[in-house]
Amino acid sequence: MKILIVEDENKTAAYISKGLSENGFSVDIAQDGQDGLFVASQQYYDLIILDVLLPKLDGWSILKGVRAIKPDLRILFLTACADIEDKVKGLELGADDYLVKPFAFSELLARVRSLLRRGVVQLQDHLSIVDLDIDLTKHKVLRGVTRIDLTPKEFSLLVFMAQHQGEVLSRTLIAERVWDINFDSDTNVVDVAIRRLRQKIDDGFEKKLIHTMRGIGYVLEER
Ligand code: CA
Repeated sequence: MKILIVEDENKTAAYISKGLSENGFSVDIAQDGQDGLFVASQQYYDLIILDVLLPKLDGWSILKGVRAIKPDLRILFLTACADIEDKVKGLELGADDYLVKPFAFSELLARVRSLLRRGVVQLQDHLSIVDLDIDLTKHKVLRGVTRIDLTPKEFSLLVFMAQHQGEVLSRTLIAERVWDINFDSDTNVVDVAIRRLRQKIDDGFEKKLIHTMRGIGYVLEER
């Protein structure tokens, strides 16, 4: 799970980052608002911990900017603004939760876990695109009436692509999310797996669903 901390106070950022890393999260830090919005829009994160008062761009603006392009990304506001109006504003703008400084790390961790769980709970039982149906609970895949047998990795890969259908997914991102290996590893494994998956999902079917974006990555979509 990847978390971005946008926080200009070094000590606070380091404290949260250390705690989250110790609990198995991978953490990036942005130290001002502009940087925060840029990184949040360029990279994949499961959750953002966002300070309100930041240099260059405040947390409200980051929230609006991020919400516009990533409506599903979890956002936790972390701020010294204890006023009820600020809380309401944050939630109205689409923050998922709100924590007032000073806070106990254990409380932050509990909120983070709860937000991430909420993400999982929202998963449906089925994902579908055109005539492809993925049954997430039974691990069954159908293309029309044809049953398609996938290895567990191929299944994870297909589910990840179906959850992000229409989005171009880079090899690096796929490697990180499906194989849990980091970006400097050999991402050739992704190409090989995509090729196999494509043979099973698309070969022999008129409508192709997996598409290559040369030099960028792969996308699952109806064309
Ligand atoms: Ca601040």
